Amino acid sequence: STTARKSLTIGLIPADGIGREVIPAAKQAILALGSDLPKTEFVELLAGFEYFKRTGTALPEETVEILKYDCDCALFGAVSSPSKKVVGYSSPIVALRKELDLYANIRPVISVAPTPDEKPSVDLVVVRENTECLYIKQEELTIGPNGKEARATRLITERASRRIGQIAFELASKRPRKHLTVIHKSNVLSVTDGLFRETVCAVPLLPEVNGRYNDVTVMEQLVDSAVYRLFREPQIFDVMVAPNLYGDIISDAAAALVGSLGLVPSINAGHDFVMGEPVHGSAPDIAGQSIANPLASIRSAALMLRHLGYNKGAGRLDIAVDQVIREDQVLTPDLGGKSKTEEVVEAVLKKI
Ligand code: ATP
Ligand code: MG
Repeated sequence: STTARKSLTIGLIPADGIGREVIPAAKQAILALGSDLPKTEFVELLAGFEYFKRTGTALPEETVEILKYDCDCALFGAVSSPSKKVVGYSSPIVALRKELDLYANIRPVISVAPTPDEKPSVDLVVVRENTECLYIKQEELTIGPNGKEARATRLITERASRRIGQIAFELASKRPRKHLTVIHKSNVLSVTDGLFRETVCAVPLLPEVNGRYNDVTVMEQLVDSAVYRLFREPQIFDVMVAPNLYGDIISDAAAALVGSLGLVPSINAGHDFVMGEPVHGSAPDIAGQSIANPLASIRSAALMLRHLGYNKGAGRLDIAVDQVIREDQVLTPDLGGKSKTEEVVEAVLKKI
């Protein structure tokens, strides 16, 4: 809880490409919050594809140890993924999610309303299971009578479905609309998606829940029709919960509804650790030009702080970002502006 913490240690893992430009921006924004946070320290940590090319490892043991034992939370920038498979390289972000058991990926997608009094037309949160489904990467290629055959194993467990369901219900119960959409395809995949759906929908009946989710309305939606409705009438959605693969696709699709990837934040959350991460990648096409949009990272810092209970500080970051977009219109090129990363950061700091 927030009251118990006398100091806050935040790990910073800028990693590759524009990660190195946007994570320092988030750090500055957090520092500007001053006494809204306890005494805050930052630890810079190494990881990424560039680091791999220098050293042969993408995620040094030391980074994991410091995160586990010294940090309360972390901010991750982005990793470059090589276009061809590189021997010995595997993504450090995937490894970190596993090492720290960050089983929930939470992505709020919110449009900025023209005025502060208007409701945003899109205001939803995608809660994606982060550890299993097709992403356990158990694939095999065999030769059958008619040529090559590729198979992938899809794992859905009751444990992982229950804990993601708990996160989703908890989040929905705290939002004004208190609405949860459970995404699946159990008409076709009745065993795997059937288990996901059944387990998530049963969360309100768990003894420890004690009626807390009685006022959350639940809608089930097949993934194909969910995407269709997301584009036609995004306002019907509040919290959406999905297995790993559907969640991955839906959250990128939802990001497209609000403009640039450079605006969309996320957190990876586990039982006792949280890591903020902008949804965008390392953007090699614009890296090093000081035109990366830092707002997704600043919003990721806000999400991380809110998850830890620092609602006031988080709120100040979110409001500052909204004002910079709506009023100042200090915007990087991805949003149609001409400003540099530093100019956007300066504008945010001024608003804070
Ligand atoms: P990666 O393999 O690291 O994901 P990518 O080539 O897929 O790299 P993304 O980072 O996913 O690149 O970005 C996709 C597009 O969106 C790119 O053209 C990139 O320049 C743009 N973009 C992404 N993030 C930002 C940002 N923060 N500011 C401005 N443009 C961005
Ligand atoms: Mg990408």
